[in-house]
Amino acid sequence: MKVFFDARQLGHAPAVYFRRGAAMPHQEQPQRAVILRDMLKSEGFEIRPPRDHGLAPIKAVHNSAYVDFLPDAHARFVKSAGSEALAIPTMHPGVRRGKEPRDIHGQLGWWMTDTSTPLTPGSWDAAYWSAQTAVEAAEGVMSGARAAYALCRPPGHHAMRDCANGFCFFNNACIAAHHMTSTFKKVALIDIDVHTGNGSLDILYERGDIFFCSLHPDPATYPTFYLGHADETGSGEGAGKSLNILLEQGASQDAVLSALDKGIAAIRDFGAEALVVSLGFDMAADDPLAAVAVYPDGFAEMARRLAALTLPTVLVQEGGYLGPSLADNARSFLTTFREATQ
Ligand SMILES: [Zn+2]
Repeated sequence: MKVFFDARQLGHAPAVYFRRGAAMPHQEQPQRAVILRDMLKSEGFEIRPPRDHGLAPIKAVHNSAYVDFLPDAHARFVKSAGSEALAIPTMHPGVRRGKEPRDIHGQLGWWMTDTSTPLTPGSWDAAYWSAQTAVEAAEGVMSGARAAYALCRPPGHHAMRDCANGFCFFNNACIAAHHMTSTFKKVALIDIDVHTGNGSLDILYERGDIFFCSLHPDPATYPTFYLGHADETGSGEGAGKSLNILLEQGASQDAVLSALDKGIAAIRDFGAEALVVSLGFDMAADDPLAAVAVYPDGFAEMARRLAALTLPTVLVQEGGYLGPSLADNARSFLTTFREATQ
């Protein structure tokens, strides 16, 4: 299994965000990637940096003006508000009518849905190289590798076509999946992060060539809310190509594995030629954002069942926060997947 990571991804370092009406420590810390990288090294994985594939693979799934807004947004914010201020939007257009403003504060609200994507000096580089890491893993599989793991951070599956959302700037998994459609006619993307892949749903909703499936608690009662309901099944060419499988909050490992089996069966029915996995470890029972109860042996079982599809597979890192079992869960999944795909 090929493994890719770029240390520039550590440069996005958000201190706080707002949740339930209060400023609190930001969950998506660089330390997550350090823990995962160190685990990979200790298990003998060879970690390679990605090449630079440029903006084209990113703009293939994202609004071009959104992508172009990000590189100097932090510098422009600091010029306006000072370096001590938190570079988040405090105004939003609501339903997005009208035009993108020219003022940085108006633009932040135009391109960001919430307060969870504060810009820091290294945010652009981190998001850019996170996306390049996903593209490199896709290229690895396109050139014949059975499996590749992209240690992406910041994560991506909440990022929509034209906005940042839920800790995410660029949708790394969709970027990889789209990139792979130049080699594989049908690609499946399955999202086993505990949160809904709302960004992936947004990007892929009308696509017939990429099947999308996400496992998550009911968005009526669990963040990131709004999207990911069972009746959202795709439209146009994508009709029937999106599948949201809802989990009970507090669901057991067995219940999660049964839900995974439904997703795997749908991927077989679709006739996928290649697979992308939005791989979060926040289904862990002791994750700081926990909603269901998966343990290290459950992550290993998920890896076995996904590997049994025998498809060329790109694993894209999503969530999984600084809980006590993060390294164990990642070790369990990734060493099992490596073994099963050798
Ligand atoms: Zn998550």
